[in-house]
Amino acid sequence: MNLEHLNALKKLLSSPKKIAIIPHKNPDGDAIGSTLALWHYLSNNGHLATIVAPNDFPKFLKWMPGAQQILNFERENSQSKTVINEADIVFTLDFNHLGRVGQMSEILESAQATFVMVDHHQEPSDYASIMYSDVSMSSTCEMVYVLINQLGDENSITPDMANCIYTGIMTDTGSFKFAATTSNTHRVVADLMDKGAEGTEIHHRIYDTNSPSRLHLLGCALKNMVILNEYATAYITLSQEELDKYNYQKGDTEGFVNYGLTLDGIKFAVIFIENKEEGIFKISFRSVGDFSVNDFARKHFNGGGHTNAAGGRSEDNIADTIAKFTALLPLYKNQLQS
Ligand code: 5GP
Ligand code: MN
Repeated sequence: MNLEHLNALKKLLSSPKKIAIIPHKNPDGDAIGSTLALWHYLSNNGHLATIVAPNDFPKFLKWMPGAQQILNFERENSQSKTVINEADIVFTLDFNHLGRVGQMSEILESAQATFVMVDHHQEPSDYASIMYSDVSMSSTCEMVYVLINQLGDENSITPDMANCIYTGIMTDTGSFKFAATTSNTHRVVADLMDKGAEGTEIHHRIYDTNSPSRLHLLGCALKNMVILNEYATAYITLSQEELDKYNYQKGDTEGFVNYGLTLDGIKFAVIFIENKEEGIFKISFRSVGDFSVNDFARKHFNGGGHTNAAGGRSEDNIADTIAKFTALLPLYKNQLQS
């Protein structure tokens, strides 16, 4: 965070405040990890802080210290609204525009609080008067770590906070392997281990708590994979019917898209997942190298994210969605083959 914004934030936090902390809709490990770490930090420093998530999050994140205190805007609607309306400060974490909170955007837009953004996605919008946006960061969790250091409170990082921050860095970097993982990320993680983060235990709780039906769903997804070598592309589809057949639970499809990239020569991997209730296909895009899935998602599928990981949506049926997608590939053939 630059000095001007940092000083403004320090001043804001110099007396006890009512604070709402908001992750994006369908929060992932980074969103939950960063909001929880910040929540612990602010609560330990005398503020009345509350996390309000736009909707529920996966079971494999519910062990995180403080997770039971998170309000779910869909489930605890009036309590959530009160927290946001009465807040002096609203921190928004791990997203770059208010559309990313779904139904909650309206109430955030009318809130009177001072907004603070902490985020690593490209092209942030300007709703926050205090901004910490850095697309070079591995994760919002790494940014929360840096921010706490900048506020001079590195010694106030507790083992609970260290575990939360470690989790988000780990999930957003694919266990420290994606391109956004820097030497500094590793230094941060090393310090978090010194401060009590239990790396092995966290890996176990996130990655080794599968249900049999989730693995069967993965089998179905891999069977559905279509490989287009000409475009160095692999895509997967999952229909609502297939999700239902394998007893889909929130978070079950997390990471499926990455399997496409494990194929030799594949640079662009996509998964289309039906959500009948919302009448859409939620799409995840992943790439290796220079091909920007952020641009692709933004231009064609109403989404965005990072260069190598982005999301989007389609309101068309599966046949039309796939037809649209495959018709676009020739336009990117040069980029995908280089
Ligand atoms: P995922 O594919 O795991 O849902 O998301 C990949 C990345 O893109 C994440 O950083 C996520 O926050 C971002 N992302 C996912 N969906 C959207 C979307 O619809 N719009 C934008 N702007 N970003 C998205
Ligand atoms: Mn993130």
